[in-house]
Amino acid sequence: MGGMMAPVRNVFTEVAERGFCIGCGLCVALCPAGTLVIGFNESGVYSVRDKAGTCSENCNICLRVCPFSDYSEDEDALGKELFGALGGIRHRPETGYYLGSFVGYSKVDGHRENGASGGLVTFALEALLSEGLVDKVACVGSTGDPVKMFKYSLCSAPEEIRACSGSCYYPVEMSEVIGGMLREEGRYALVGLPCFCKGVRLAMRRVPALGRRVKFILGLVCGQLKSKLFAECVCALGGGDPHTLRRAAFRVKDPGRSASDFGIRLVSREAGQGEREVLVHWTEGVDRIWSDRYFTPQACNFCDDVFAEVADASYMDAWLPRYSGDPRGHSIVLVRNGQVWDILGGESAKGAIEMRQLEIGDVIASQSGVLEAKRRELPERSRLAEEAGQRVPKKRLQLCDSRLSAFRKRIVRLTWEVSGRSAERWLKLGKDAGRFVREFRFLSWKILMLRRIDQCFKIAVGVWRKAQRVLFH
Ligand SMILES: Cc1cc2nc3c(=O)[nH]c(=O)nc-3n(C[C@H](O)[C@H](O)[C@H](O)COP(=O)(O)OP(=O)(O)OC[C@H]3O[C@@H](n4cnc5c(N)ncnc54)[C@H](O)[C@@H]3O)c2cc1C
Repeated sequence: MGGMMAPVRNVFTEVAERGFCIGCGLCVALCPAGTLVIGFNESGVYSVRDKAGTCSENCNICLRVCPFSDYSEDEDALGKELFGALGGIRHRPETGYYLGSFVGYSKVDGHRENGASGGLVTFALEALLSEGLVDKVACVGSTGDPVKMFKYSLCSAPEEIRACSGSCYYPVEMSEVIGGMLREEGRYALVGLPCFCKGVRLAMRRVPALGRRVKFILGLVCGQLKSKLFAECVCALGGGDPHTLRRAAFRVKDPGRSASDFGIRLVSREAGQGEREVLVHWTEGVDRIWSDRYFTPQACNFCDDVFAEVADASYMDAWLPRYSGDPRGHSIVLVRNGQVWDILGGESAKGAIEMRQLEIGDVIASQSGVLEAKRRELPERSRLAEEAGQRVPKKRLQLCDSRLSAFRKRIVRLTWEVSGRSAERWLKLGKDAGRFVREFRFLSWKILMLRRIDQCFKIAVGVWRKAQRVLFH
């Protein structure tokens, strides 16, 4: 046995090999041995690999900055350290810390029209740049490369930031932009999903240069990320060719539809026919692909952060009945950093943005579906994974209310099956939308029926509780 050496424990053995890498790429940028590389795995999700196996046992930096490792601090600890002592700060278990919250939109030309919701992320990034508070911002834009349709880049001009407007339901990774921040002195802002924000905060604590240089982190509320196969499947559902998909725009506004029924535009290039563009709306099947958890990365099944709790400000769609009908779009913003609050207040006074105060209860209500999936269903998913012999990432189960109805538990089991099987079946069936839909038809029908029954059950329980209050008090 003498010559056999156990592999060094690193993010590859502890996170990626177990299927929980979300592909943020931070570890790749920070690995001192340069042994980690990132690329798409067979499910179309970014994942790290250990190319040379040359890392040192005493290093562990990858495990300390990984948002899904068991060796890094959680959002509660990071949030407390960042915001816990600020004057006027408040806290809710669902949202983490916050100074204030509002609903609104940008009034600057093009921001709202091209933005995912109210265009307020683009507004804030431009404001940070124009006020001279940062030199560059890291955001995500389209590349024109069919293999990697979106990527992070560092922007130093407002028009570059504007070109990145909109939400990207496609994997992206940060190794290049974080590498850029490490190489070049400067002040940076970054926009990211909750797990990416957490990773950057962790990295800022371990790497002093990054800690000094990253001045602002803007978070996007996130229900789940999707693998790159999601775009292919939507393209095929709309009649396009998933094999030759070139470009995508995931949030196309339509003046004739509500904000929540946005379109996804996909451009493919079919042999001898030039480019073909298809537009598929949310209610034309995308809603089911999204909420039944087709092409959802395994890491997202174990995420408990809805509101990007460690970001300086978090941005989301105003999914409340009074706003979601307006096709122009409204954003809700949760602010944790006093400087960001002052900037936005000043811009509102100047008339550059619309900013109406919104109660925290309404902010939480706007994300009720996401909270259900991330906080209430997580313990059940952990149980299913453990049943299958998987060791799941440590998450804040103490924040999760695990009392689920029998219907809900069944839904979790079925959507777990969908997220586990959909990528493999999509590829095995040759990306043929017809065969794919036929194969999953019964499973999808069961999920739909159970959701309806669960909804009726919830209404009945609500009526019963109300009746009890009236009758017995
Ligand atoms: C995968 C994903 C899931 C989401 N889930 C929800 C949800 O469940 N509920 C909800 O209310 N909101 C969700 N959002 C956020 C929402 O879609 C909008 O991004 C948010 O309302 C801000 O809109 P805006 O008009 O202010 O932003 P814009 O002005 O359009 O600016 C958006 C900015 O986000 C950046 N960006 C886009 N995609 C990514 C990405 N994948 N990673 C990092 N940066 C990116 C762009 O570069 C741009 O700078 C999600 C976003 C993503 C990307």
